[in-house]
Amino acid sequence: MKHNFGAGPGILPQEVLKQAAEAVLNFNNSGLSILEISHRTADFESVVSEACSLVKELLSLNDDYAITFLHGGASTQFAMVPYNLLGEGETAAYLDSGTWASKAIKEAKFFGNVNVVASSKESNYTFIPKDYTIPADANYFHVTSNNTIYGTQLHEFPESPVPLVSDMSSDIFSRVFDANKFGLIYAGAQKNMGPAGVALAIVRKDLLGKVDRKIPSMFNYQLHIDNGSMYNTPPVFALYVSMLTLRWVKEQGGVAAMEKINNKKAATLYAEIDRNPLFKGTCAVEDRSRMNVCFVMDNPEIEKEFLDFAKKADIVGLKGHRSVGGFRASIYNALPQSSVDHLVSTMQAFEQLKK
Ligand SMILES: *Cc1c(COP(=O)(O)O)cnc(C)c1O
Repeated sequence: MKHNFGAGPGILPQEVLKQAAEAVLNFNNSGLSILEISHRTADFESVVSEACSLVKELLSLNDDYAITFLHGGASTQFAMVPYNLLGEGETAAYLDSGTWASKAIKEAKFFGNVNVVASSKESNYTFIPKDYTIPADANYFHVTSNNTIYGTQLHEFPESPVPLVSDMSSDIFSRVFDANKFGLIYAGAQKNMGPAGVALAIVRKDLLGKVDRKIPSMFNYQLHIDNGSMYNTPPVFALYVSMLTLRWVKEQGGVAAMEKINNKKAATLYAEIDRNPLFKGTCAVEDRSRMNVCFVMDNPEIEKEFLDFAKKADIVGLKGHRSVGGFRASIYNALPQSSVDHLVSTMQAFEQLKK
């Protein structure tokens, strides 16, 4: 068995993989593969409606929200959000806390004015900027809840005078938060919710229909919502496996149970990083992510050696993003505590080796 610390597409629960494999051969005892059925069958329509109700239930969303599953990954959402919410000449506020945030900012500039209220770029995004005011006349305020590349996370969301929009690609369903405080939430599935190929958008319905530009169909939230995520062929398989993963989260006890397990995994790993003289963390302690744990070695010259050592211990996906270097252990929902314990003992074994 491998211990998969990859940042994305990330680890999925074994049970989910087994069910998905079965459905590839015989979906719901239909004698057909999930890969070859019409999306307009009752069986698949119930997959989509179950996925929507699971999202709603897991996040305790009220009826002000619509849920839709889309193509194009989180990166398409970078454009789709301002396309639908930011009129020409109007202003949106953004927090620049990492690469993904800066890409979202770049896309928003195609549609209207962007006010970047704060940025930690100068310090290579090692912390979450906290000293800023959200302009009350902005259409919305956009934050990245978890910075997958740099390993920082917003542990508290700001009180915002304008609708809060968040890219939650790498920490959705990992912790408890009040989703009903948001205007819009989006996430690519492949970090913590399912396989690559589908993105989730949760939209407060009253925010739509306010910009007066024309929006091409595939970029129009309202159209996808009105058509129950079936305006065109949805990513059938990715959506199915995401639904299975959401079912799994519910079976584990929901988001509160996931949070408890995730907090323990993160605490175990950070404790070792702080204790072991060979390693050190890369970010401000108060902003450390509980999903992507970034760390380096005190002596960078032996980083390659540790990666090889870890690989021999069946640890995969540990190499840090090229913009940070070192290591990144992604400890998404599906990664068990036992894998974190194994990584910690491997770090300890390496410490002994170097003595
Ligand atoms: C991975 C990631 C993205 C990009 O997702 P795609 O689905 O590849 O477009 C955007 N935002 C965050 C926070 C991510 O982790």
